[in-house]
Amino acid sequence: MSRGRRLLDTAPMSGLASRLLALSLLCVAGVAGAQTPAVPAPAPAPAPADGAIHYLEEGESLSMLARVYGVPLSLLMARNGITTDEQLANLQIGAPIVVPGVKLSEITHKKPAARKGVTHQLAPGETLSELAKMYGVSVREIMTANRLSEDDASKLRDGKRLFLPGVEKNKQGKIERKPTRLERQALAKAKRLGLGSVAAAGRLLHGYVEERWSTAALEAGRFGGTLKWPVNKGWFTRGYGSGAGGYHKAMDIMSPLGTNVRAAANGIVGYSGDGLKGFGNMVMIVHAGGWVTLYAHNSINFAKAGQLVKRNDVIAEVGSTGRSMGPHVHFELIHENKNCDPAPLFRPGVKRRNGSLARIKYASWPRPGQRPEEVRCAKRTKHPLGHSVMNENPEVEATPVPEDPNAPDPAQHAPSEAPETNDHL
Ligand SMILES: [Zn+2]
Repeated sequence: MSRGRRLLDTAPMSGLASRLLALSLLCVAGVAGAQTPAVPAPAPAPAPADGAIHYLEEGESLSMLARVYGVPLSLLMARNGITTDEQLANLQIGAPIVVPGVKLSEITHKKPAARKGVTHQLAPGETLSELAKMYGVSVREIMTANRLSEDDASKLRDGKRLFLPGVEKNKQGKIERKPTRLERQALAKAKRLGLGSVAAAGRLLHGYVEERWSTAALEAGRFGGTLKWPVNKGWFTRGYGSGAGGYHKAMDIMSPLGTNVRAAANGIVGYSGDGLKGFGNMVMIVHAGGWVTLYAHNSINFAKAGQLVKRNDVIAEVGSTGRSMGPHVHFELIHENKNCDPAPLFRPGVKRRNGSLARIKYASWPRPGQRPEEVRCAKRTKHPLGHSVMNENPEVEATPVPEDPNAPDPAQHAPSEAPETNDHL
């Protein structure tokens, strides 16, 4: 192997940098003449059979591509082997992204939709999370488009001008984000099924799941009896039965603003919106067998009602909308008019702030009628101060993570049953 090749192979660098280096090496080889073999330019990524390649340009993010090409973000991530939020955030300019189901002629390299957007000047006290909600763009997308680090994002000054990617003004001057073809299809399906409305959300909140909803959910796959921990790097702050009188029949999972919220199990999105007071932006997923999972306070929801989701699919971004005092996910597991403690069902387990897993006895609930005794269920109760559901402050660790001295240590013993998908995350 020539010296030049080795250099290229070992140096970690952005696509652009490697292209420049390849160019300079080629020049050197040209001047040196016959003694030095010419260094071949790095071969372009081979054309995929299932789609076309989009080379990432400055200011572009994967969620932006998902929207431009009408492909679910989860599919883009899976096809390109991107599994963690870090990988997603650290994509380099020039990175080849395979867009499945798209022809090469449809790849929009120079401008159009990917570069469209509007500029917003921050008003006093305005936050990224508010902007995200206002324009229907994720916090992560705003950060990428404006080259903001986590630190920059937390120190934004009034008057700063921010670019909101993918947002357009319609003829009336109103700012809107057009749904993609797949989103329109999902919404139409939700309408046919009677899902997606605030009324449907109200029913799901009590675990009233119509037979046809459960059947539709089965198209995404069966409910395997366990739940995926919905925020990879998130940590437990409040558990089931915490708060005065044990009103909090849910779990709070804290995580930095803009990290991904993922589906805990296969199902169909039954509701995605902010129509229920207190919950902010909320997603509800109906699972085959009649379970419902709920993910509240998101900065933005990606999933649309009627969309089929697989366990681990990205459905929203962590935020602090609704009755919430800090970025976190309020997670509920609902079944037959009762809220149930999800803790024993989580895989790989309930995570603590330092990343370790709490010692909780694992349980599995694969059939509705066979609830394991470790999973407590009770009717939803009102907040003692008269708030309808919750009064969320994720900083308050209202109850410690439940500890079972007889439980196996999840950090050392993997759950006995095989995980459904992607449980290595
Ligand atoms: Zn909560």
